[in-house]
Amino acid sequence: MSTIKERIATIQKRITTEFEKTTFSKKPTLLAVSKIKPAELVLEAYEAGHRDFGENYVKELHQKAQDVEKSDIRWHFIGHLQSNKAKLLCSTKNLYMMQTVHSIKIARLLNKHCQEREEPLRVMIQINTSGEENKSGCDPENCHEIIQFILNDCPNLKFVGIMMIGFFAQENDFKRLSQLKEKISKQLQIDSNEIELSMGMSNDYETAIKYGSTCVRVGSLIFGQRNYN
Ligand SMILES: *Cc1c(COP(=O)(O)O)cnc(C)c1O
Repeated sequence: MSTIKERIATIQKRITTEFEKTTFSKKPTLLAVSKIKPAELVLEAYEAGHRDFGENYVKELHQKAQDVEKSDIRWHFIGHLQSNKAKLLCSTKNLYMMQTVHSIKIARLLNKHCQEREEPLRVMIQINTSGEENKSGCDPENCHEIIQFILNDCPNLKFVGIMMIGFFAQENDFKRLSQLKEKISKQLQIDSNEIELSMGMSNDYETAIKYGSTCVRVGSLIFGQRNYN
């Protein structure tokens, strides 16, 4: 059995290898997705030098951020946010980024609850590339309106990129997201190197890097399979 430290090192090495084959400018961040896993494992990864962690559930994240209180840890929220949890999310210690903004309504709420932060909360827009009804995320056609709203009306938020969840992601989805990035860059006149792409998970992060992912979200490869009860 390998340790968490060894697994992270192996994945980092693969990220570097894939990234070096590309012409992109930003090496992808490895987001260690710790949902459902105990705080002790997060601490183990932290002590191995890892800093970026992803969580899907607001209450769980809030609790873990208290249990693993480190001034330089970076928590990323990557789950579906219900309006009534926005306040709790924004009060979470060391919340670094919110990756799943899918509507103007959620952006407005986050902006409201982030007034007290020392720096704006980094946000990504979650895109539904597959067009499946039951998946959350905004329609690719509408996402520039949300981004525009954040840029114009949300001083407590900072737009940093777009993300996609594809549990059965195809290369086509990665391609679509990277094309959408170029489109947004033109529409809103933002340097495309300044727009991050969060895509790729345990089973496809290397492929996602080929298409320009700047943030791969890896859970089970680091922490083991999750047992939902
Ligand atoms: C659970 C989850 C992941 C990690 O999934 P693995 O297959 O365990 O790597 C990544 N992104 C999101 C949004 C998730 O919910």
